Amino acid sequence: MTAEPAPTHPTVATFRVEDDSLLVGGVPVELLAERVGSTPFFAYSRERLTARVGHVREHLPAGVELNYAVKANPMPAVVQHLSTLVDGFDVASAREMQVALDTPTPAARVGFAGPGKSIGEITQAVASGVTIELESELEAERVAEAGSALGIRPKVAVRVNPDFRVKGSGMRLGGGPQQFGVDSENVPMLLKRIASWGLDCAGFHIFAGSQNLHAEILCDAQRRTAELAVRLAEDADLPLRYLNLGGGFGIPYFERDRPLDLSQVGQGLDEVVREVIRAVYPDVRLVIELGRYLVGEAGVYVTRVLDRKSSRGQHYLVVDGGMHHQLAASGNLGQVIRRNYPVAVGNRMRPADLRRQTVVGRLCTPLDVLADDVALPPADVGDLVVVFQAGAYGLTASPAEFLSHPRPPEVLV
Ligand SMILES: *Cc1c(COP(=O)(O)O)cnc(C)c1O
Repeated sequence: MTAEPAPTHPTVATFRVEDDSLLVGGVPVELLAERVGSTPFFAYSRERLTARVGHVREHLPAGVELNYAVKANPMPAVVQHLSTLVDGFDVASAREMQVALDTPTPAARVGFAGPGKSIGEITQAVASGVTIELESELEAERVAEAGSALGIRPKVAVRVNPDFRVKGSGMRLGGGPQQFGVDSENVPMLLKRIASWGLDCAGFHIFAGSQNLHAEILCDAQRRTAELAVRLAEDADLPLRYLNLGGGFGIPYFERDRPLDLSQVGQGLDEVVREVIRAVYPDVRLVIELGRYLVGEAGVYVTRVLDRKSSRGQHYLVVDGGMHHQLAASGNLGQVIRRNYPVAVGNRMRPADLRRQTVVGRLCTPLDVLADDVALPPADVGDLVVVFQAGAYGLTASPAEFLSHPRPPEVLV
């Protein structure tokens, strides 16, 4: 049975192919598998990371800084490479902070956000001089205590839970009750306390959502974020020096997703910066923080076919990887309706014929499906099935210990 080819995914279309092979970082994927020495593995392309940051820079208004949110992909080599390209890092744990501080990026360009920072983490953060993005009043008090104990005046910003909600985001943050940040209506009181404790508060961090593909919604969120920050700073007489406007730029995962119109986002941001922010605070340091958008499309997860079988009319490819490494592709990381990530057989990129096949992993659970009923060339044992969009929230966002298989290598090519 021959299947219709699926329309080429916009990200997959940007990968080069040589003979029948997918090139990752310029290397044919079969050769890359030999170089890595085992399958499955994750590979991230240095060239794609560089190009992506360049593309974002082209569209960001002059003077707006670009941070990388390390949790999207904390592989040290990736973070090191990005340190040569971005202005700073956003981290959310002591270990991420360490990875960021191991790069040449100065501590003053690292922001540490996230609820429930431990006293140990707070002490490390104060000692290293990163900006601590305060998530609660108790946390602010602990930061002040760590500062007195160390004889250092801590650098802080207030993470604000905005009073608006952003539609069309994969993950909605803000608007209602949530565990992140301080409700905007409580910020004035907290700023008074912070001042009385002698903390050096530079401004605000407002992150309103993630994985958004709609430029007009992002522009609207940026405008409302800026308006909220200016209102809070003016009401408190805070000389605003730092404003992290969040990001939330999405990438196309599924067949019908269209890439974000970055030039529209950049134009909208330029207006917001000029009209709302610089008009009042001409010298404030403005930061956009992106995780997924910088790294997601630069990575692939490469697996090898171990077995092939048919069950009551359905063809299965059993590969040596699975949801324990790439949970998101199995649909179990926050998807409501399971949809397929783009996949290909990396050594059969110009197939003569296609058939519908389901790619499953090695875990003893029906949840371990990497691609459900997709058009792929008839694959053999030993072929390489490649899952795209694996550069962000891959290995470190997956239950790697589940079923006790070895941890896969990661390489930067
Ligand atoms: C996770 C996170 C990000 C990165 O989000 P992406 O969707 O990967 O761009 C940025 N800022 C904060 C505060 C986060 O928690």
